[in-house]
Amino acid sequence: MSLRELFAIDVEKLRGVGPKRKDALHKMELRSLGDLLTHYPRRYLDRTRQSAIADLMEGEEATIVVKVLRTESRRLKGNRVMVTSTVTDGQSRMSLMFFNQRWRERQLQEGLEAIVFGKLESYRGRPQMTSPVVDLVGDQTGKIIPVYPQSEKAGVTTSDLARFVSEALRRTITNEDARTLRDPLPDWILSDRGMTDRSSAMLGIHQPETHEEISAARRRLIFDELFRMQLSLVRRKRFLEATQQGVSHTGGGPLVRSFIDALPFPLTGAQQRAIDEITADLVRPMPMHRLLQGDVGAGKTLVAVAGMLTAVDGGHQGALMAPTEVLAEQHHLGIKRLLDGLEVAEPSSLLGVRPLSVELLTSRTSGSDRKRILGGLAGGLTDIVIGTHALLQDRVQFHSLGSIVIDEQHRFGVEQRAALRDKNTDGSVPDVLVMTATPIPRTAAMTVYGDLDVSILDELPPGRTPILTHHVDAPGTLDGEPPLQLEQMWQELRTSVADGRQAYIVCPLIDESEKLEVASAEETYERLRSVELNGLEVGLLHGRVEPDEKDRVMERFRAGELHVLVATTVIEVGVDVPNATTMVILDADRFGIAQLHQLRGRVGRGEHASVCWLVASPTTADGEARIEALVDSTDGFELAEIDLDLRGEGTILGERQKGRNDLKLASLRHNREVVIDARNAAIRLLDEDPTLAVHEALADELSLMAEDADEAFLLKG
Ligand code: ADP
Ligand code: MG
Repeated sequence: MSLRELFAIDVEKLRGVGPKRKDALHKMELRSLGDLLTHYPRRYLDRTRQSAIADLMEGEEATIVVKVLRTESRRLKGNRVMVTSTVTDGQSRMSLMFFNQRWRERQLQEGLEAIVFGKLESYRGRPQMTSPVVDLVGDQTGKIIPVYPQSEKAGVTTSDLARFVSEALRRTITNEDARTLRDPLPDWILSDRGMTDRSSAMLGIHQPETHEEISAARRRLIFDELFRMQLSLVRRKRFLEATQQGVSHTGGGPLVRSFIDALPFPLTGAQQRAIDEITADLVRPMPMHRLLQGDVGAGKTLVAVAGMLTAVDGGHQGALMAPTEVLAEQHHLGIKRLLDGLEVAEPSSLLGVRPLSVELLTSRTSGSDRKRILGGLAGGLTDIVIGTHALLQDRVQFHSLGSIVIDEQHRFGVEQRAALRDKNTDGSVPDVLVMTATPIPRTAAMTVYGDLDVSILDELPPGRTPILTHHVDAPGTLDGEPPLQLEQMWQELRTSVADGRQAYIVCPLIDESEKLEVASAEETYERLRSVELNGLEVGLLHGRVEPDEKDRVMERFRAGELHVLVATTVIEVGVDVPNATTMVILDADRFGIAQLHQLRGRVGRGEHASVCWLVASPTTADGEARIEALVDSTDGFELAEIDLDLRGEGTILGERQKGRNDLKLASLRHNREVVIDARNAAIRLLDEDPTLAVHEALADELSLMAEDADEAFLLKG
């Protein structure tokens, strides 16, 4: 039986599933046999290895099979409810405590058998657990019992699920006349890795007899998930390469050469390598889809500019799209400066050349300028355009767009990338380079950007003094008696301003409302101006400052007229003032690792030593770990690995993962080697069979998994 068939049979077809059960299962998103069989146990109970209450030490975590003796509830202060259940393991007793879970009173009735999992505590010398995980196993037999994620709301227990799963397995695998599950993986993939077949894996994960069976099953199923993912990514990439007509640029043209020769410093090794990789892509007839990863300050701009110039060398155009107007404007200024003095061939002019033209197009570009620039883009007189989303509008047409750079990809969707590719009237597809300063771990990059090639700038230009990072243990809000450390921080900041340097102060992040955030930033600003930074020139930037005012403030800061810039995260990306050497982040534990790293990257850009102060008294272990990571490391890739460990992959996969969520067992954190292995296997398979014509069962699974969740529901029996 194929996966498609499995996902097409409604759970109501199972023995023991009537209309009510069906509704309940559907509510849990378990609509088909496929859903049920991929609803994997979250852990197992080994009857031969269960603990006895008396043997446990305080603080130890354990799984214990218990019988409920009695359960009662009590009202506490503040309208809270405490449910206490007294249970026994046959020899000793213990209490289970639950807060604000009234329904436990109904659940834990006298005589009920349950498995509890939690940490043993002791209260007045008696054993207890607070809010343990409770599973109702019913009368399941067997040595190793699967414990399924159950749903209290739908009234479906783990023993119900075990029963349904067993029924589903009987129908599909273990029944005499049932066929086995079709295994779409070629033999060489299985045998190279010593992996078990799919039917055995399904049985092994749901009805294991030994722990070895569980591991073998997990290994196979995790590989399946990651392999499908890599296969579809690599196939998409190959498909684009095969079907899109790109521009074949010529590398090493005169513009690129004079640009690089004119730089006041040599390229770093990493920059040279990235430029070579990009040039090799540009020269090929297929369109480039490449990700340029580099830490803040690694010098991505130069690499991107070299790519655009390669296009211009061949008579095409380049475009750079930034996520915000401030950034677009800044890039425009910077790139114009970099390209100052370069000339392009212009046969119709007297000298045969004209100055290279670099324009800025945002929604703020005024009517007459806009008209001129649109004309220049359509006619080919504008060589490079820097802009925002405004570049995506239909009215923007290019004479011949050869190379696109997208800065800070995480703010652009895949669709927007696609829209930019459609800009050429002659149907050719421009090369695309995505730049991101948010390093992501290699395995995650393979997944999130699996349809892109990756270049990495893992080397900072020489001469940078590393940023020293301190944690100031204080709440970010400034009221109350300031701790000594905080006093010291302001003192050092004032000293550095007296030495001619500048500083940023980032205000607490308030996710719930921009209005509150702005109010808090204004408050912080007023307070600092009149107390801690009294006498200094302080500016304020936040999301609600008018564009003109924003420009004025940035201009004054750049010119050194403002000593200190108080801001919300609007300064997160791109702002480049080498004279700023102090970064203070208030309530730093509220920010994510990547964001803190970005913010910190605003300093340390010049010749002077820089310092970053993280002001926070973290209230969670995660918050503390984030601060500690930042204090310990300035390496973006290392931080990205830590971030992945702390947050899990959900946030990274986030927007890009559409369709049926196929990662149920696999984790980008814990299965890093499998990701790489699966990608290599996918590449090898597609080398042999580019269209999966020979592996039609695999192709079918890919299309099944890619279908929208909604569509999958249409398949129900
Ligand atoms: P990123 O965009 O990766 O954060 P930028 O391209 O803005 O970094 O470069 C940061 C700074 O480093 C700029 O001021 C740039 O001029 C400088 N820079 C870039 N490459 C080099 C190099 N090879 N040697 C010295 N300085 C460099
Ligand atoms: Mg940059």
